[in-house]
Amino acid sequence: MIFIIRILRFLIIAAVVYFLFRLLWKGDLFGFLKRKKRSGSPKPLEEMKKDPVCGTYIPESQALKLNWKKETYFFCSEECKQKFQKLHK
Ligand SMILES: [Zn+2]
Repeated sequence: MIFIIRILRFLIIAAVVYFLFRLLWKGDLFGFLKRKKRSGSPKPLEEMKKDPVCGTYIPESQALKLNWKKETYFFCSEECKQKFQKLHK
């Protein structure tokens, strides 16, 4: 009888450990997916602007803006902006 109780107790403990492990794993996975979603490209819908000097595409928020002849131009760096300004004086 004691033997059966020991086996049952072992099985119950094993089941509880397994259940807790699964719960923790699922919770962690859920958190991982959440983190992954947040850390993905910050603004996927952001418009990409072409640098007319070097031809690079830059997200609008990171681009350097220059208004020239009623049009807005976007540059990847100060260097490109200055090159453009020199070319269009
Ligand atoms: Zn550039």
